[in-house]
Amino acid sequence: MIRLTHVKKVYQTSAGPVKALTDLNLEVRQGEIFGVIGYSGAGKSTLIRLINLLERPTEGRVEVAGHVLSALSEKELSRERKQIGMIFQHFNLLWSRTVAENIAFPLELSGLSKDKRKKRVEELIRLVGLEGRASSYPSQLSGGQKQRVGIARALANNPAVLLCDEATSALDPKTTDSILQLLSDINRSLGITIVLITHEMYVINKICHRVAVLDKGSIVEEGTVRDIFLSP
Ligand code: ADP
Ligand code: ADP
Repeated sequence: MIRLTHVKKVYQTSAGPVKALTDLNLEVRQGEIFGVIGYSGAGKSTLIRLINLLERPTEGRVEVAGHVLSALSEKELSRERKQIGMIFQHFNLLWSRTVAENIAFPLELSGLSKDKRKKRVEELIRLVGLEGRASSYPSQLSGGQKQRVGIARALANNPAVLLCDEATSALDPKTTDSILQLLSDINRSLGITIVLITHEMYVINKICHRVAVLDKGSIVEEGTVRDIFLSP
């Protein structure tokens, strides 16, 4: 589903070149929950922007959902970005819009008719367990409920991959568990591939099938959670 081969990313800054990714190889299979764990500065955000097709690598090959990034024009890129749904640490909701309007937003951008939007939003609200909250504003919701809105919005256009950027880092432990459970349920029921980027070991242990450890711009270990963290 996602394959990065010998990916290098160098940022040109006024202070000189900064190497964010040195030689990164990564393969995420269809339908799995894949975790990437690393400290601050390891290159996690850069990796996200590459998978998200927001950035091109300096060297190497990026393949997402059957497309090779270098072969895509800017126009094709913006279409392919719909294959990737994303959720964030601070939710990134529109504060002046209701739950239903937030979830409908990507559907509007896709040009879905009003009737179809309404039906799809109702489906999504049920999927994430926010029944009765359609008309609430984000400020009236708990952190966990806000992230449920984020998840519904990310899934609105049926993406192939759900990319989670520190999605539970702003939540308390109990809420973290409920969101991880929801992600796990969604993975199972929709078969969607999930990539989880985090600095928290707990999150990886809880739901990831496989994991990669990112350090100083490259993957230093990759395997099942058991292989990497539970072996003697
Ligand atoms: P993480 O998300 O794991 O903290 P990043 O991908 O943000 O890692 O950063 C990796 C390295 O690349 C860091 O040294 C960071 O300072 C640098 N970096 C990231 N983004 C940029 C940018 N847009 N311009 C210049 N340097 C950057
Ligand atoms: P719009 O005018 O499109 O309805 P808003 O004015 O509500 O959007 O918000 C514009 C952007 O600013 C959104 O991306 C939203 O996430 C962000 N934003 C607005 N209010 C807040 C807030 N109180 N805290 C964090 N982000 C906010």
